Amino acid sequence: MTTAKELQKSLTWEFPHIGKAEPTAKEAAFAYCEGYKEFLNEGKTEREFTAKAVELLKAAGYEPLDLSKSYKPGDKVYFVNRGKSLAMTTFGVAPLEKGVRLNAAHIDSPRLDLKPNPLYEKNDIAFFKTHYYGGIRKYQWVTTPLAMHGVIVKKNGEVVKVSVGEQAGEPQFCVTDLLPHLGAKQNERKLSDGIRGEELNIVIGSLPFVGEDEKDEVKNAVKLTALQLLNEMYGITEHDFMRAEIEFVPAVKAVDIGLDRSLIGAYGQDDKVCAYTALTAEIDTKAPYYTTVTILADKEEIGSYGNTGLSSDFVLHYLEDLASLEGANIRTLLRNTTALSSDVNGAFDPTFASVYEERNSCFVNKGPCLTKYTGARGKSGSNDASAETMAKIISIMGEAKVYWQIGELGAVDEGGGGTVALYVAAMDVDVVDLGVPVLCMHSPFELTSKLDVYYTYKAFAAFLASDK
Ligand code: MN
Ligand code: MN
Repeated sequence: MTTAKELQKSLTWEFPHIGKAEPTAKEAAFAYCEGYKEFLNEGKTEREFTAKAVELLKAAGYEPLDLSKSYKPGDKVYFVNRGKSLAMTTFGVAPLEKGVRLNAAHIDSPRLDLKPNPLYEKNDIAFFKTHYYGGIRKYQWVTTPLAMHGVIVKKNGEVVKVSVGEQAGEPQFCVTDLLPHLGAKQNERKLSDGIRGEELNIVIGSLPFVGEDEKDEVKNAVKLTALQLLNEMYGITEHDFMRAEIEFVPAVKAVDIGLDRSLIGAYGQDDKVCAYTALTAEIDTKAPYYTTVTILADKEEIGSYGNTGLSSDFVLHYLEDLASLEGANIRTLLRNTTALSSDVNGAFDPTFASVYEERNSCFVNKGPCLTKYTGARGKSGSNDASAETMAKIISIMGEAKVYWQIGELGAVDEGGGGTVALYVAAMDVDVVDLGVPVLCMHSPFELTSKLDVYYTYKAFAAFLASDK
């Protein structure tokens, strides 16, 4: 005679809380996340992340892909696409026509970009005009310290790297907001309209330039001070902004959140948390069965458009290059490839429970979230992973004893989103989304759980190593 409890145990399923199921995992997870936090602080933009990743790759014995060479299992190569995206490979034992293990994350994050003609002065304050990049809630980006990152290509072709506001003692920047005393009218705006795009103006100075022995005032002398300082620092003039990519990002550093230090608070964890875990899993993979291809892509936050994003053919071209090494048929390679689109998902937030559906949401501390489909309004714009692909990934994680969970982004018709999965699928590849649950996603300060970060690394490592 079976008891109800026995029957319940054998027939029903609930994802465990890792903190309860595996309390000893804490030590390894916390140690792993120290490297992650350092990476977040030093790789806040796609260019910086790429440069730092290449440092790590070189130290781990990776070499630039060279099509004139032949490679053996365990050899490691990488390819940098225009300084803003990256492909990495560890050669496997199996022939390339058996397919590769493809893992794609993205390294761009929502931020404030400078307009091409950004600098102006109004009422003796100098400002930068911005155009936000990616999906932001604009009201979250005011009255928070910002840092300036990017590159300027000078007339002579020299590329100048810009970074102000990250090192101790450096000045930082800020978008202003109204004081509550005068906010009555602004308070009547809808939240989505609380701060408008053209109000995201960054304060960069307030002192006028006064020349020696000069009696006549020049126009816009505060703007002139800013230009003088930029010229001293980087040798640039106002004209050079048109040949620049300057991003303003939160100046805050990654920190532990909570008395138990279980969470990480930082800017840009979407999707640098999957990028870092994908990168370290790739590096730690030795002579796998399938050849691995780890991709860190740009431009996901604006729809993956552009030649550093996954809607371009740069990954296909990289795979074609790999296939050419063996004279492998690229179509056979693609058809036999299994891929992860490694991107974050919105973690269930009890304070705003109504926009989630609890049974199908992901939670912090239950591990990486396997997302069968994304999209909005009836899965529109989604790669809806097949049952067979789900089965393969679930079985790989099961064998490796990785904690994971299922989750979709919010309740039906509450909103939605997309990832790079549809572009990977467009190459005729089987793909499903897997990534870390994030609280306050796309805000200047996102939260993740250290246990989730660690088990995402383990999930990626298991995926790359498996011969399934
Ligand atoms: Mn993302
Ligand atoms: Mn995003």
